[in-house]
Amino acid sequence: MKKSADTTRPLVGVLALQGGVEEHIAVLESLGAATRRVRLPQDLDGLDGIILPGGESSTIDKLARSFDVAEPLRRAVDGGLPVLATCAGLIYSARELENPAPGQQTLGLIDVTVRRNAFGNQRFSEERTVPVAMEGQRSGEPLAIEASFIRAPIVTRAGEGVEVIATVPLPAPDIVSGGEGSGAGARTRPAAEREVIVGVRQGCVTALSFHPEENGDSRLHAAWLASIAH
Ligand code: GLN
Repeated sequence: MKKSADTTRPLVGVLALQGGVEEHIAVLESLGAATRRVRLPQDLDGLDGIILPGGESSTIDKLARSFDVAEPLRRAVDGGLPVLATCAGLIYSARELENPAPGQQTLGLIDVTVRRNAFGNQRFSEERTVPVAMEGQRSGEPLAIEASFIRAPIVTRAGEGVEVIATVPLPAPDIVSGGEGSGAGARTRPAAEREVIVGVRQGCVTALSFHPEENGDSRLHAAWLASIAH
């Protein structure tokens, strides 16, 4: 794609209401994509894909509704616009939230239930290597991504049509929320052995709990761009 003439350069939007917009723009441009900050419905015209960045999902939701871009965005994705969603973007894409902020709405693009801030608020702005099964990966091998988890969500339910593309072992003491309930058997399995879902794909939507754009590693964006190229 990098070698192609400008006519085949993909035009990628980044929802630019709040959050980590510039980091995604920088990675996309370093890969030769044309970019556009998306705030208004007309900014969606002619895009080849869109990134829903990290930030604060309840703020992104409120702003998207007040800019009247939420519904047009949902319709564009229904019509096949490819999405890469990271962190708050995953939350905003989910069908259901376990712990929404008061009045918080989501776009319902993927049939998952998401728990916000699942790693607790303490210093889990950690980096770790996460194998991610990206579609545009030539080798077919999962990409080992240096990922940042910043007050990150997890997927606690993935519906039938949802493909799990990344999991991480749950670090036992770090998971504070969720109240697994008092059901018998809930404690019989050591928490450290549990894998939690941090990456999913359904149709044209790829969504990740973490930030792949913060560590100078552009391979995940490159794979995504390859997957949306026609
Ligand atoms: N916890 C944030 C939220 O609920 C997401 C954090 C992030 O995007 N880094 O929106």
